[in-house]
Amino acid sequence: MLRVAILGATGAVGQTFVRLLSGHPLFEIVSLVASERSAGKPYREAAHWIQSEPLDDRIGDLVVEGIDAAPDADLAFSGLDASVAGEVEADWARRGYAVVSNARNYRMDPTVPLLIPEVNADHIALIDRQDWRGADGQPSGGFIVTNPNCSTVGLVMALKPLHDAFGVEAAHVVTMQALSGAGYPGVASLDALGNVVPYIGGEEDKLTTETRKLLGTLGSTGEVVEAEAVVSAQCNRVPVMDGHMEAVSVRLVGSPSAADVADALRSWESPLAGRGLPTAPATPLLVTDDPTAPQPRTHVHLGGGMTVTVGRIQDCPVLGVKFVVLSHNTVRGAAGGAILNAELLHAEGRLGRRADAA
Ligand code: NAP
Repeated sequence: MLRVAILGATGAVGQTFVRLLSGHPLFEIVSLVASERSAGKPYREAAHWIQSEPLDDRIGDLVVEGIDAAPDADLAFSGLDASVAGEVEADWARRGYAVVSNARNYRMDPTVPLLIPEVNADHIALIDRQDWRGADGQPSGGFIVTNPNCSTVGLVMALKPLHDAFGVEAAHVVTMQALSGAGYPGVASLDALGNVVPYIGGEEDKLTTETRKLLGTLGSTGEVVEAEAVVSAQCNRVPVMDGHMEAVSVRLVGSPSAADVADALRSWESPLAGRGLPTAPATPLLVTDDPTAPQPRTHVHLGGGMTVTVGRIQDCPVLGVKFVVLSHNTVRGAAGGAILNAELLHAEGRLGRRADAA
């Protein structure tokens, strides 16, 4: 088993890590880290547990540590608030940890993989461009890998097969994003209930920039050459618990029909098939003909929250083809995506090197 720490363990994403790692065949939680507000308290007291499954007793008893903790661990999952993630994650990488992060701080760094294993596993090679050094000035062996924003994941999972089959020229996306995406306590109930808020700070830019990096290819000198697709986004917070829904219109090279697009999505095969990664769902991309689907309530938990569902595929008189995509924001869009990233890193022999480097 590889020993893991969770940074930001008390938050919405941190708790999802705790839940999803319970009984994980590769990773064992040995350290829970949060702010000074939580440090020194047993986890069951520090975390306001909002998961649907009960908290494991062993984890509940662990005493939360501060950001200077130095656990005997190989890997640190980060669900830290972005206001502190930049400095803290760099510090942990300098101290030799493999940091697998949900925070936005390093996503667009040219040396940091922004990773969806089914989409751009080869971007892992960017790790070799990182140079984290310990206090002794020697390479620490640490590195940072990130996963995309929770709304970008669903969009890119749907665009990737289309980019490969035709080429994406432009995409316009209108999101309907769940409340859990704002963390806990998140949006005030009086702003959320019976309402739609047409603003999520920074989200529209992330959809544009992250999509281009994720669909990019590695150039001749190993850097990411971003895809040229033009992406425009309008993001809305809606009173849904879990699950980001997105209405997408795309312009594809060669102007394929909706039927061609449905065929391309259905015939896409995950490059992870047969690799035995525990968190990889049997069906990463589900295409449905049900005219009333997907819906958060009925589809968000498919594949343990790791399946992305596409429906309502139709010809579009504006950009060519339109569809609706749904993905689970705290699972596929955060903790589950990060755990899958770590499983891929493990399969590629990138984890468990800390002891060698020390
Ligand atoms: P959250 O519920 O607000 O949790 C934030 C976590 O960061 C808590 O554990 C908190 O600890 C810790 N923290 C805050 N200030 C700190 C400090 N000064 N030092 C150390 N720890 C500190 O937020 P969240 O929704 O889980 O999101 C966490 C990260 O994941 C963010 O960067 C977010 O953008 C990203 N993300 C979230 C989602 C989602 O769907 N929610 C999806 C993708 C990415 P205390 O409890 O001790 O304050």
